[in-house]
Amino acid sequence: MAATFQELGVPLEFIELLNTKNITMPTPIQAATMQDAMRGSDLCGRAPTGSGKTIAFGIPVITGVTKATAKRPTGLILAPTRELAEQITSELQGLAQLGKRSMLAVYGGTSIKKHKNRLNKGVDILVACPGRLNDLLQQKALTLDEVSFVVIDEADRMADMGFLPEVKKIVRLTKGDRQTILFSATLDGAVSELTRQFQKNPIRHEVGSKTPDIQSMEHFFWKVNRDSRVPAAANLILQRGKTIVFTRTRYGAERAAKHL
Ligand code: ADP
Ligand code: MG
Repeated sequence: MAATFQELGVPLEFIELLNTKNITMPTPIQAATMQDAMRGSDLCGRAPTGSGKTIAFGIPVITGVTKATAKRPTGLILAPTRELAEQITSELQGLAQLGKRSMLAVYGGTSIKKHKNRLNKGVDILVACPGRLNDLLQQKALTLDEVSFVVIDEADRMADMGFLPEVKKIVRLTKGDRQTILFSATLDGAVSELTRQFQKNPIRHEVGSKTPDIQSMEHFFWKVNRDSRVPAAANLILQRGKTIVFTRTRYGAERAAKHL
């Protein structure tokens, strides 16, 4: 398995930009998938949250699509929620600029007129939630017949949220000889159907266990007086950094947040 971004075939200027964000070594899912993805293979991958899947599919899309003409994107990234669409766009925007590809996120609850204007000017890579994309398609704001690269991110959540019929309708409108990448927390059930219908000999990569690894987790229990709870928690948080604090009630959550 290749060990560096350079060995995976990532262009040097991309590596330099990643380095400025303290991204210097590929994560396991990046190491496992990026080379195949940049060579044009379909792939389906499963890897834990936070394992760097956005860059794993983002760089291959950016380097793999041609410039778009008006209303005809060449790359499409489907995401289940507006938060995820935004996250993907902000993570990839700088890389896209570097690769001279424009990128736009479209999702409901924002001005459809703005989306239409941008599409008229030509958007290379569209990051979309299925609902808004279907609205735009119905209003003939774009066509997908030039889309040669499709990413379906968080396909399991897409299925959970009931988006699969819309996703299928959308993918059918893209080029027949497109490249298709799918990432999901599970690769069976409804997701395997997507793979069967829309991917050609996908290379399958699974990183990490299917269930959270509670064996490698250490549990501690402190018995403290009521008055010492907040200082004890504050102390731990100071030592350990990012922390999630659970409380029994909503009121307790408000109070803990205030005191902390
Ligand atoms: P996933 O989609 O797998 O849940 P993300 O793509 O959202 O994960 O990445 C999670 C975080 O990890 C992001 O902040 C991203 O910038 C960072 N990241 C991605 N790749 C690397 C890497 N190779 N080294 C360090 N951090 C990385
Ligand atoms: Mg992700």
